[in-house]
Amino acid sequence: KKLGYALVGLGSYSTHQLAPALQDAQHCYLAGIVTGTPDKEKIWMDKYGIPKENVYNYDNFDDIAKNPDIDIVYVVLPNSMHAEFCIRAAKAGKHVVCEKPMAINAEECNAIIDACDKAGVKLGMGYRLQSEPYTQEIQKYVREKTFGDVRYISAEAGYHSASNPDQWRLNKKLSGSGALGNMGVYAIQAVIYGTGENPISVTAQEFSTRPEYFKDTDETITAQFEFPSGAIGNIMTSHNISSNKFLANCSDGWYGLDPATGYGPLKGETSKGIIEFPHESQQKLQMDDFAQHVLTGAPHRAPGEMGLRDVMIMEAIVKSIAEGNRKVALNFEPGFGFG
Ligand code: NAD
Repeated sequence: KKLGYALVGLGSYSTHQLAPALQDAQHCYLAGIVTGTPDKEKIWMDKYGIPKENVYNYDNFDDIAKNPDIDIVYVVLPNSMHAEFCIRAAKAGKHVVCEKPMAINAEECNAIIDACDKAGVKLGMGYRLQSEPYTQEIQKYVREKTFGDVRYISAEAGYHSASNPDQWRLNKKLSGSGALGNMGVYAIQAVIYGTGENPISVTAQEFSTRPEYFKDTDETITAQFEFPSGAIGNIMTSHNISSNKFLANCSDGWYGLDPATGYGPLKGETSKGIIEFPHESQQKLQMDDFAQHVLTGAPHRAPGEMGLRDVMIMEAIVKSIAEGNRKVALNFEPGFGFG
């Protein structure tokens, strides 16, 4: 059986990545859409053969509860709308996938997790890299200590935004944060999967060089993490600097990816040589993995707690900056949020 996904929000990511990926998926397919833009309905119905009864808008979305074709609702809206639509999807009895960052604060993340628990539905994050072979290879090095103990890991995730100061990503009410939530989440993910540990403290700094463009949201943030093993992490995220890589220096060599977070193909290298995997759509792998998790109980690569943990780390970064770059303690249970 293939599970039916409904995409909520037909913007750039749904249009150019998720919908095409679902055409090639093995365990799932594009069964429905939820859009606030009536003009998109016919275009998507024609393009993907979606029947009228599987098309919803934001008002009648809750009727999806009665639709047996839809197994999984995938929320791909601006960040401030994730909580509302994930919770409505859970209440409709549908499994939920939530795009990154999970929500605009930890309270909302917890509300999503509670709603899914209460409804007895599965919850996954749209963390495509957790299903991606280069990232999984790094996770294997960490598990098997192929390069010994990680001593220092750095991760950078950013791009130069120049075209549209009015986009929702630069509007704090809709985005929750600027570079931090949009790209910083990848750098946070990299230092955690690259060490296999949750950090125990963070110290952060913020830089603003184009305040006339970034009026409402953070432009560039750096942060340093301490890990229980003694490993040190350093991240940089920006809406002004293009960078997309990570490097782990270990007691017995090194490994890294550059690019580390694009849609692929990624590139990897270690002190022992090049890492190489055939390219596959990351989104296809991710949506298939979640469908398999629902269908068979296969490993959950990106549970809701992973999204919550990352948002809690972002909140600690913001707190560190607000309180004069002081070190903020993080108290996660070991393994909290890991897939
Ligand atoms: P987008 O701007 O291209 O699309 C946003 C969609 O939301 C549009 O269809 C728009 O009509 C709709 N929308 C509803 N209310 C809106 C409002 N008040 N303001 C603006 N748009 C509104 O954005 P996107 O790039 O598709 O991003 C959507 C989500 O997906 C975000 O949470 C983003 O972080 C995430 N995303 C994830 C990845 C990834 O690699 N995992 C990549 C891109 C985006």
